[in-house]
Amino acid sequence: MKFGAHMPTGGGIWRALERGIGIGCEVVQLFVKNNRQWFGQPYSPDDLARYANQAAAGKLHTIFGHAGYLINLGAPASPNRDRSVQALIQEIQLATELGLPFLVLHPGAHLGAGEASGLQQIVAGLDDVFRATRASPVRIALENTAGQGTCLGHDIAHLAAIYQRVQHPGRLGLCLDTAHFFEAGHNLRTPRGWQAAIGQVESQIGLREILAFHLNDSKTDLGSRVDRHAGIGQGKIGRPAFRHIVNDSRFATVPGCLETPKSEDLHEDVENLAILRALVFRRGNSTKPLMET
Ligand SMILES: [Zn+2]
Ligand SMILES: [Zn+2]
Repeated sequence: MKFGAHMPTGGGIWRALERGIGIGCEVVQLFVKNNRQWFGQPYSPDDLARYANQAAAGKLHTIFGHAGYLINLGAPASPNRDRSVQALIQEIQLATELGLPFLVLHPGAHLGAGEASGLQQIVAGLDDVFRATRASPVRIALENTAGQGTCLGHDIAHLAAIYQRVQHPGRLGLCLDTAHFFEAGHNLRTPRGWQAAIGQVESQIGLREILAFHLNDSKTDLGSRVDRHAGIGQGKIGRPAFRHIVNDSRFATVPGCLETPKSEDLHEDVENLAILRALVFRRGNSTKPLMET
């Protein structure tokens, strides 16, 4: 995997890249606008020029976005559901300006209307969004979720259903979050549990669709359905699990991005990146070969 972390954009969108490069990220995830507001300001030419300079430095393998947290395509018809569609359209436009290949999106929550209704709304919402951004190459990477409340996406079958029903599945991709997998009931602590989780994705959707991983430990227990991220080795998944995760040779060039708690100086990200890299088997760093199945 190519390691990196979610980087704050305080001070300008380009600062996320500067920060990521500064702490040795190979990949950076960022919010294309304030993630707690519906709509963002357009970037200034100066912002875009500085961003392009940082991106052109060539030190980053992949830069991608995460959609804002207010967006819920799964909600029943309502002003907020309409706003969600419009906000995602704007985020894709902003991501296009930045040249991002994809935006990670939580599929959505049905808010009590039921899974079938929620999935239908998500599919219809994505169809609207893809229609309005037809010329954009930016894909939406659906993220698996912990299954908190009425959130959909904790069952891979939800993601597969969205793939099967949208008009343009080529605009979709996947982002798989290790904490969410675990909280949804997949025991990633064992190689067998990891294989089983990935096996579901492979059989129902396809491994080629995996555009990124979120590498997070979980503060909550297996199957808790409660989403709380922890530093690598500081949660219930535990450091040894990340050995079989980061050494899975099928994902050698796929981004693996931390979304773990951090302070302003980012020293936790530095530590977590070092932990992940130390787990990678390479000559002189290997105690036993990677178990293949
Ligand atoms: Zn997410
Ligand atoms: Zn995540």
